[in-house]
Amino acid sequence: MCGIFAYLNNLTPKKRAEILELLVNGLKRLEYRGYDSAGVAVDAANSKDIAIIKKTGKVALLEEAIKNKSNELDMDDIVDVHCGIAHTRWATHGVPSEVNCHPHRSDEGNGFVVVHNGIITNYKEVKVFLEKKGFCFESETDTEVIAKLISHFYQQHPNFSFRELVESVVQQLEGAFALCFKSKYFPGECVATRRGSPLLVGIKTVTRLATDHVPILYGKEDHRKSSIDKDFRPHGRADYPTLPRTGSTSEFEPLEDKQVEYFFASDASAIIEHTNRVIYFEDDDVAAVKNGRLSIHRLRRGGDDPHKREIHTLKMELQQIMKGSYDYFMQKEIFEQPDSVVNTMRGRVNFETKVRLQFENKEKP
Ligand code: GLU
Repeated sequence: MCGIFAYLNNLTPKKRAEILELLVNGLKRLEYRGYDSAGVAVDAANSKDIAIIKKTGKVALLEEAIKNKSNELDMDDIVDVHCGIAHTRWATHGVPSEVNCHPHRSDEGNGFVVVHNGIITNYKEVKVFLEKKGFCFESETDTEVIAKLISHFYQQHPNFSFRELVESVVQQLEGAFALCFKSKYFPGECVATRRGSPLLVGIKTVTRLATDHVPILYGKEDHRKSSIDKDFRPHGRADYPTLPRTGSTSEFEPLEDKQVEYFFASDASAIIEHTNRVIYFEDDDVAAVKNGRLSIHRLRRGGDDPHKREIHTLKMELQQIMKGSYDYFMQKEIFEQPDSVVNTMRGRVNFETKVRLQFENKEKP
């Protein structure tokens, strides 16, 4: 099932070496899920560009590749605010190879980079559209369309926020996905979203969190309609009624100087050693961290949609997770959550497995 791990530190200074170590450790915790290659993206030594390091095979080989680039990466540089994203890949589209590894990029300048778990079932259609717009693809993956599509929207709408760009992108995607984005145009920000594949965020603050929930901001005006080219329409997901976005106070603001760290991951095994306070995202949640603030957005509001996402306190220790009596960690994770979480997690795991099996039976290139 592969894995995503992303780490954002806000006003919690870290050496680049520490950040990379943290990302690699996160991937190691996710190794049991199965994978064939791994990669990371962090700010480059000049802090303006993005450095991507990828490797086929074990995470240990990625770790070695990172060590070999120590000089280039300026490992002792201390960054106060930074977002790094990391991935273990279980190839569905394209063989395991460095060019097919994630993170994928929008262009040679690494303007936007993305990691993806899952399968984009309409990627061919999106690719044709983007090729007509002049985009050149370097990998055989379905994921690369996501990196190119966000760049396309950025060119069209340079005033959109990072989160709005991601919202525009996911409106065009079909299939199952968990995604984390990083961009050199939006330094220190991270946007993550999911549909069908699991994703959660761990929150670590110096002092106790002031709240046990994060309010959800609902879409007001359907900016996506203007953001989408006339010749490229979403697939059966357009034209739902929208309700006004709630007030701008509906963001999670940590206490004390905004010192906060966020850990996005496919499951809790990669987070629990850092914090036990987590939010499980629901399908189509778009979570954005900007200036250290986490906000959760949804474009549309259904009749019984909740107003907030709970911050759960995980009761398990890493050792328990890894050595439990269940056959698979995922089983253990599911059964030890409160009922509300159990049901949504079961749905998620089943959905991604179903999409993957359908694809493997029918379409594998
Ligand atoms: N479908 C994507 C790929 O082949 C993501 C696979 C994964 O979930 O790791 O690269």
